[in-house]
Amino acid sequence: MILGIDIGGTNVKFGVVDENYRVVKGYSIPTGAARGDLAIVNDIIAQTKKIQKEFTFTRIGIGSPGNLDCDNGVCVRASNLPYNNTPITAMVSEATGVPAFLANDATAAVYGELYAGAGKNFNNIVMVTLGTGVGGGIAIDGKPYLGASGGAGEIGHMIIKYDGLPCGCGQVGCYEQYASVTALIRITKAAADANPDSLLAKLTAKGANGRSAFDAKEKGCPVGAAVVDEYAENIAIGLKGLQWIFQPDAIILGGAISAQGENLLTPIRGKLTNPINLFTSALGNNAGVIGAAVVADKR
Ligand SMILES: [Zn+2]
Repeated sequence: MILGIDIGGTNVKFGVVDENYRVVKGYSIPTGAARGDLAIVNDIIAQTKKIQKEFTFTRIGIGSPGNLDCDNGVCVRASNLPYNNTPITAMVSEATGVPAFLANDATAAVYGELYAGAGKNFNNIVMVTLGTGVGGGIAIDGKPYLGASGGAGEIGHMIIKYDGLPCGCGQVGCYEQYASVTALIRITKAAADANPDSLLAKLTAKGANGRSAFDAKEKGCPVGAAVVDEYAENIAIGLKGLQWIFQPDAIILGGAISAQGENLLTPIRGKLTNPINLFTSALGNNAGVIGAAVVADKR
């Protein structure tokens, strides 16, 4: 058994994962980021010790966003977590007696899909995570490609429009300004405002979310269908570039919106130049903890 830990800005998830990378039991505690890094790590240790009373595991994998020194198990800093060169794996290992390993959450997601998810039958995959921003990861010859300092796979900051929208990274025209769920919501709101009599406008009267356009399309609304079409086109533009560069066996779309399944994949496939195995994540809500467990197993 391996314990996978997935640190997020809101919750820390724990999963006891068996040798087939299936979650035997899951747990979640609030992150409480405002209390500082040591409080977070102490909560993680306390929860791990509780789980140790119920299960025996031989390794701990920790996935986290932010700037990490994975070789030394140190969380350097992160935009929504109070890291301050926090030696997380040393603290967790010492307190629990179990070796711990650290990985970037995007790397963990690729490991998870490669060994336990939609990428299981492939060696070369590109993972694109559609969320507030766009993240990603690349696996080549069955191994995650990390780049010169572990930061490879920032697909969201690939420029797809040279005079496009400004991005938080300082560039303009980044992929995530068009393919993120944030972008989908922006397009949805604009379409609803421009078509006040549409079903989409009715569905979004109290606020739009990433499902609104898909729901409207399913109920026959042409405005909702047009939003889904535009969003699919935006996603496809980035995927085309990734296909030409990496010639992957498969591209896997992750993030909460991947729950749309074929409703998302079919319109994207129609806009690609070359055919590709295109899947949504097979691990869903467990992707983070399974990925972290796989990292611990493969290190
Ligand atoms: Zn950017």
